[in-house]
Amino acid sequence: MITGNTKLLGVIGHPVEHSLSPAMHNGAIAHLGIDYVYLPLPVKPEDLEVALNGFAAIGLKGFNVTIPHKQAILPLLTEVSQIAQAVGAVNTVWRTEDLLWAGTNTDVEGFIAPLKTYKRDWSQKIAVILGNGGAARAAVAGCAQLGCAEIHITGRNQLKLQQFSNSWNNSPISVNLHVHSWEKLPELIAHADLLVNTTPIGMYPQVEQSPLSAGEIAQLPVGAIAYDLIYTPSPTQFLQQAQKQGAVTIDGLEMLVQQGAAALKIWLQQPVPVEIMRQALHQQLGTVLR
Ligand code: NAP
Repeated sequence: MITGNTKLLGVIGHPVEHSLSPAMHNGAIAHLGIDYVYLPLPVKPEDLEVALNGFAAIGLKGFNVTIPHKQAILPLLTEVSQIAQAVGAVNTVWRTEDLLWAGTNTDVEGFIAPLKTYKRDWSQKIAVILGNGGAARAAVAGCAQLGCAEIHITGRNQLKLQQFSNSWNNSPISVNLHVHSWEKLPELIAHADLLVNTTPIGMYPQVEQSPLSAGEIAQLPVGAIAYDLIYTPSPTQFLQQAQKQGAVTIDGLEMLVQQGAAALKIWLQQPVPVEIMRQALHQQLGTVLR
């Protein structure tokens, strides 16, 4: 129930109407019985600064940030965490005690969370990442945080790959990163302990597509982890191929849940009901795909 004291949270984006975050966060808020509400907040790129001032004026407690504001918001914040600086993007903002805006990136924590449930000595492991866009940055930072021995990233555009590589040179976190063109994949996959798809290939409605050919996926060692950041469909074609190959598989839903849980914890400063958030997402995805 909305009262005169209801505190405001939300997500800014453009567009924002397809966001699953309101369902996930309001599910948690209802379960906790606290006087908060989480709103979709459509903000055009040119209105970002004025929106931030407006949020300060009305006392918004915090908000998530999605496309196209994840990079653009950095210079408007007073504090940016090291991990957000390394990724070059912010997805969670909160109001500090001094009434300033601070930001971090919980996608990295979200990415790592399901991997941590597998007890592996990451210092001996090789990660291979498909794609070099925004989500790949969180995956690289996550693999670095896990302590992976080597991180290999592949892409189809040589210039973008080089820029991606250069962007980690003065990073606040240490990354043992190697970049390769897509053609190198069969060789890389043969040595992969963790294979991550950060491309949108295979995402609904293109559910029959996979980023890898049968020949490429056949190189994946038995027992390796195949991780697809896509959450619809689940499993993707890529994960089905990997499972047949004897890999352990992880889909993108848990990353989505855990980045949300990490954000809510920052805003509320208390434990949050992760299972309720997971269920709310499942339910919302079921509705969207019906
Ligand atoms: P993005 O910034 O647009 O990056 C996409 C990457 O995939 C780019 O490197 C792009 O290469 C590459 N790519 C696209 N089509 C390709 C193709 N046909 N062949 C080879 N490479 C191709 O997108 P993003 O924000 O990183 O998101 C990527 C995926 O991750 C989406 O499916 C998104 O839903 C998912 N995601 C999931 C979560 C989660 O919480 N589970 C969070 C973030 C993102 P070019 O640059 O050459 O085009």
